[in-house]
Amino acid sequence: MTYFDNNATTKPFASVQAAHTEALVRDWPNPSAPSRASARVRAKLELAREEMAECLESVPESLSFTSGATEANNSFFAHLASSAQPGDEVLVSAIEHPSVSEPARHWFGEGVRLLPVDSSGAVDLDVLGEFLDHTVPPLCVALMAASNETGVLQPWREAALLCLERGIHFHCDATQWVGKLPSVGLSACDSFAVSAHKFGGPKGVGLLGSKLEHRFVLGGLQEAGRRGGTENFPAIEGMKTGLAEVTGNLSGLPGRSSWRDAFEGSMLENFSGLKVLGGEGPRLWNTSMLLMPDFEGLSYVGKLDKLGFEVSTGSACSSGGSKSSPTALAMGFSETESKRLLRVSSYLEETEEDWRSLASAFLEARDQLESESAQSTVISL
Ligand code: PMP
Repeated sequence: MTYFDNNATTKPFASVQAAHTEALVRDWPNPSAPSRASARVRAKLELAREEMAECLESVPESLSFTSGATEANNSFFAHLASSAQPGDEVLVSAIEHPSVSEPARHWFGEGVRLLPVDSSGAVDLDVLGEFLDHTVPPLCVALMAASNETGVLQPWREAALLCLERGIHFHCDATQWVGKLPSVGLSACDSFAVSAHKFGGPKGVGLLGSKLEHRFVLGGLQEAGRRGGTENFPAIEGMKTGLAEVTGNLSGLPGRSSWRDAFEGSMLENFSGLKVLGGEGPRLWNTSMLLMPDFEGLSYVGKLDKLGFEVSTGSACSSGGSKSSPTALAMGFSETESKRLLRVSSYLEETEEDWRSLASAFLEARDQLESESAQSTVISL
């Protein structure tokens, strides 16, 4: 099976599997207990925090280990709400992951203002400037670094600066950025979320980077009192190992966009009417979001799966349900078009040849779908 759904999750690197297993076997004592064995695990935990801070260009004290980006994003909004006044508003981009948009809506209700994206899928900084200067200033601006659906890169560093100049909190969901592009500038965000399973690390572990003093899980003094509960050291060790490995390889990755571009070129040539969402502007090197001209995305997913290729209809969180892609809708596509979306996302293992084979598999999948639909027309006659 050739795997092209890496924005949903990546395969843990061999180094991560080894580090995780070793920590599980050797470093099982509770990092908070008073024994010497526990103190050793505690020291390793703090070392992992320091090493990750270095990769993320942050300070160790600002990093709290969480169960992933969903918890990090939720914790941020719950904290913000705890000190908010009635009538306070937050400005959230229209393409945020549900782990941002739903807690924002939950805690701020009518106080959520949506920051639109243009037809290329990116937030326009002039529009953000207008919002900040000509409306009631929001408590915070939330803008993801890169879209999990289209891969479109957002102007998050510039947005962070606009917010900094105005004393407005800037939160960045950096889940799809970290592990694909250098983390330069992350420390300019007042808070950010990271998830290990997007960069070859284990699932169920991530980070909230935050300059705020928050206690977001009560009931324990772990994580400097910010997040109670025994830390999952083996997963943290795996996350650290994954981040260190990919950080060392980052410089060679953006060049791989040429493999994706060649795939898209071949798709555009062979599928008349096909659209590439966000293809006009800067995108992650690994992602392609296609609007198929003929059959539903789910039909292609099934056919490609049988042909040995795993792709997705959109974000993993929405692909299982019947919800339309919020990103496609925000970019001006219709609900009907949204059903014809497919997301293809590579990572470190997928080769140029894999991209070429995928383009051929698409042709075969279409032939099969066409012949099935011709047969079903005959039967229904
Ligand atoms: N934000 C984005 C942009 C994501 O792509 C995801 C994962 N689909 C998340 C947040 C949630 O991450 P996690 O699985 O670690 O909770």
